[in-house]
Amino acid sequence: LISALKAALDADQRVTTLEGDGVDRIVDETAVLASGRTVRAGRMVIAAGHESFAMIGRLIGETLPLGSAVKGQAALLRADVPDDLPLVFQDGLYVVPHGGGLVAIGSTSEDEFDDPYGTDGRLDAVIGRARVLCPLIADATVSARWAGLRPKAAGRDPMIGRLPDVPRVVAATGGFKITLGIAHRMAEIAVGLVLGEEDGGLPDSFSVEAHRGKALEKARRQRG
Ligand SMILES: Cc1cc2nc3c(=O)[nH]c(=O)nc-3n(C[C@H](O)[C@H](O)[C@H](O)COP(=O)(O)OP(=O)(O)OC[C@H]3O[C@@H](n4cnc5c(N)ncnc54)[C@H](O)[C@@H]3O)c2cc1C
Repeated sequence: LISALKAALDADQRVTTLEGDGVDRIVDETAVLASGRTVRAGRMVIAAGHESFAMIGRLIGETLPLGSAVKGQAALLRADVPDDLPLVFQDGLYVVPHGGGLVAIGSTSEDEFDDPYGTDGRLDAVIGRARVLCPLIADATVSARWAGLRPKAAGRDPMIGRLPDVPRVVAATGGFKITLGIAHRMAEIAVGLVLGEEDGGLPDSFSVEAHRGKALEKARRQRG
């Protein structure tokens, strides 16, 4: 998403991107970086993956979690398979031919985890299921294993929009399992919002306010 944002910003002469260390907090129109350096900006887009939720919560004074991180583990296998095979899906398991003898397999979906970026037996189980489902990769060599954290907003839909009461800051996160497919549109819309344009008819469920409502509903359910 950040790459898509940079591409969308580079196409517009009115905005500048600044590279820097991580944002520790945003205070009014100033982003305070981890190094202590400050960057003053009239308008900002928060696109920090799952870390966006806490940042946004602090800015709008919401203590309920507006989203969470869902860990996923995946693998890349090397196999002598044709490039034009279809993607295979079964009950949460994807086997995706990438061409050039590479086949991607994924993925786990973990709400609780100790090691965000480590792989373990859960990935072995996914690979085992894939080998049974697709005999062509039964003996394929595992060439890479990895894990990452998906940003899941409270309402599950992406979170894109100006922050309630802080409209100069725009949220662009929560693509959960679809960011790779929609990052270019998320970026265009976020940049448009920053430049004062309308949101292009985004579903209401994408708004920060809608996700806040879902967070509240969830908290009420948990309280019984
Ligand atoms: C195993 C696995 C398989 C997946 N498969 C698919 C798939 O097939 N298709 C698909 O569409 N999606 C898939 N996803 C989901 C997809 O990877 C995520 O939805 C996507 O990475 C989210 O993009 P993002 O840019 O919003 O967040 P991230 O990728 O999390 O990027 C956030 C960025 O913000 C930076 N950042 C964080 N905090 C700060 C801070 N305080 N200051 C500055 N920078 C900060 C981070 O360093 C990072 O660069 C998969 C995810 C996993 C884990």
